[in-house]
Amino acid sequence: MAVKNIERTRNFCIIAHIDHGKSTLADRMLDLTEAVAERDRMDQILDTMELERERGITIKAQAVRLLHKREDGDWMLNLIDTPGHVDFTYEVSRAIAACEGALLVVDASQGIQAQTLANLYLAMEQDLEIIPVLNKIDLPVADVPAATEELVELLGVDEGEILKISAKTGEGVLEVLNTIVDKVPPPATSGEQTRALVFDSYYDPYRGVVSLARLFDGELSKGDTVQAMGSEEEFELLEVGCYSPKPTALPTLRPGEVGYIIAGLKDIEALRVGDTVTRTKDPAQEPLPGYAEVLPTVFCGLYPTVGDEFERLRDALSKLQLNDASLFYEPENSRMGFGFRSGFLGLLHMEIVQERLEREFGLDLIASSPSVKYEVETNGETIEVTNPSDLPEDFDEIREPMVRATIICPKEHVGAVMGLCHEKRGTSVGMEYLSPKRVQLTYDMPLGEVITDFFDALKSRTKGYASYDYDRLGYEAADLVKVEVLVSGDPVEALSIIVHRDKAYHRGRALVEKLKELIPRQNFEVPVQAAVGRRIIARETVRAYRKDVTAKCYGGDISRKKKLLEQQKKGKRRMKQVGSVEIPQEAFLAALRI
Ligand code: GDP
Ligand code: MG
Repeated sequence: MAVKNIERTRNFCIIAHIDHGKSTLADRMLDLTEAVAERDRMDQILDTMELERERGITIKAQAVRLLHKREDGDWMLNLIDTPGHVDFTYEVSRAIAACEGALLVVDASQGIQAQTLANLYLAMEQDLEIIPVLNKIDLPVADVPAATEELVELLGVDEGEILKISAKTGEGVLEVLNTIVDKVPPPATSGEQTRALVFDSYYDPYRGVVSLARLFDGELSKGDTVQAMGSEEEFELLEVGCYSPKPTALPTLRPGEVGYIIAGLKDIEALRVGDTVTRTKDPAQEPLPGYAEVLPTVFCGLYPTVGDEFERLRDALSKLQLNDASLFYEPENSRMGFGFRSGFLGLLHMEIVQERLEREFGLDLIASSPSVKYEVETNGETIEVTNPSDLPEDFDEIREPMVRATIICPKEHVGAVMGLCHEKRGTSVGMEYLSPKRVQLTYDMPLGEVITDFFDALKSRTKGYASYDYDRLGYEAADLVKVEVLVSGDPVEALSIIVHRDKAYHRGRALVEKLKELIPRQNFEVPVQAAVGRRIIARETVRAYRKDVTAKCYGGDISRKKKLLEQQKKGKRRMKQVGSVEIPQEAFLAALRI
């Protein structure tokens, strides 16, 4: 690309609440700059992972170089697409640190949402130039005046500074490009020695670890020997380049530029997101700020439905980890058989990993109830418990992780949201009007309550009009107990949960009722019980019955009969033997949703 002058470079990201149009806007910008070959076009060029496209979310940040031609010359724009979900806040914050400016995209039909704020605060912490953009003005339900007022109020800008666009039709997108050139400052460099921030890393089976990096100082060229200042690993650069949007090798990445670096590494741990790369010859003294270890917050046991697939599961997890340094797993042995205790950044992250294991590796899995990490005082020592069935019967104190949740909703739903937060053991910290119509509520809540069905409940009680986000706080002591489920007297460890004592009865009751519905009748009676310690708190019985789904087909229709038997066989594969009773996977999943 022809632009070499740092003064003609602009690095920016797009931040927004999920579905407000980041990826669509990025695509329109690609259309208006360097042309993308028509045959390479897909909807949403930037969302490359299949799963991302299907779910319409951005999991990994991406970086694309655009050439914007104007009358006053050519401008190099580096666009960094960020994941918008709370589980990936760390990646968002690193991507933001690689930029000087941010487009704050807000859906004109929805206004400011929780992740709009969360991402805005991250961008403000890094002193980015914020360019407010109202998107989807083509929608008949767009309320441009109301959304404008909210942005004016939030950012303290003039109404005229808010760009009004449709990423779908392309209206106003050229002005966005021009505003980036005019308002976002060019990159500044401060030192001679090379410092590059790694803001994303992924594993490519052919090229090894590919890292996206922003050069703050100095240069990186093919053939350089470099080192990661955090992991202290040393390696040679096999290739450097940029995406435009296809990977394009370059001789050198210069100060202020964004691009990729490849060192043939086989392990993503060697060059993690947030690390600083410097040259071994004449190294920098200080790394760039902000390297943090990302710790999993949600845990579950993953078990293959077929016992001999344990090794395949191990292999699949290790492959996924190449791409996802935040994924944690270790072997675990329980009555469920051999499996892995796995740790995730959040519920969405957990779902994505499970889906990828099933889809990309063809595994059939059972996941135990998700749990947070508890701190437990017992026998004068502190232990960490991520598997509810590991909670000792006697302990002196148990502490749970807390979060500060921000919820935004229309004012008519405030009562419903407060009620829900109260049920989830939340403590109100504040309430503020964003506009005459919409309110921001802040609550401190146990993370364990948030990871169950908080999001679904919030959506259904506010007819989909509320959004939320949270920050982690520390640990707090609480009166928590373990609820165990017994089927025919055998504990089903995967269904053990840790809950507040006040909720134990309710949760235990709900669990056994659901299981009663879901456990197929056997040719003997099956008692299903919930217990706290040795005390049974709820009991149901699955009555004896010989199950034959084809009984409904009165002889005649053979093909229908075959189909039913086929289905029944399919269902069988997803069952797990517990003692003498087969429990279908749906029962485990249903337990997660109670
Ligand atoms: P992201 O999650 O922020 O990346 O959002 P996407 O770019 O994936 O957009 C979410 C949805 O909104 C998609 O169905 C888009 O087609 C749609 N969308 C994005 N921009 C516009 C727009 O300007 N107008 C309309 N009508 N729909 C849009
Ligand atoms: Mg997207």
